[in-house]
Amino acid sequence: MDYICCYIDVQGFYANNVFYPRECAVLSDHGASVFSVDHELKMDQLSANDQRQALYLTRKHHGLPFEVDKGAKIQSINDIIIAFYECDLDDDHFLAACKSKEAEDMLRALGIPRFNLGKLGATWSGINTRLEPCSLHVNPGKCSLNAVIGMKKWVEKG
Ligand SMILES: [Zn+2]
Repeated sequence: MDYICCYIDVQGFYANNVFYPRECAVLSDHGASVFSVDHELKMDQLSANDQRQALYLTRKHHGLPFEVDKGAKIQSINDIIIAFYECDLDDDHFLAACKSKEAEDMLRALGIPRFNLGKLGATWSGINTRLEPCSLHVNPGKCSLNAVIGMKKWVEKG
């Protein structure tokens, strides 16, 4: 895949079937960043079912706490994603690579041309994300920073 200019991943929670990013990572040849995202929701605003799901994600999936001590607002993160995308954008590199539906949806909403590596057969078990998660996690779990690093390696090994 020669057309990729950056890699994006996002981890978060669902409330009323809407996805709320809680951690977002971007990676390009210029570097990588990971952000704590403040979705501005409190746990007691969620339905009982969404609360159970949120607790499950924190304990068993990504290990991110639902409520945020410090985080950037999603509008700021969107600007940073666009900046990363535009930084390495040229005629030969114009796709943001992602793996999850949530990251793909986020890129679509931003109007960024995207490519889901799943179309090339990428799976999370094939993308090596077994590094230590970043400091945002209270439990070991899927880290978006590890995900973008793993995706880039997966693409480069061909
Ligand atoms: Zn992380």
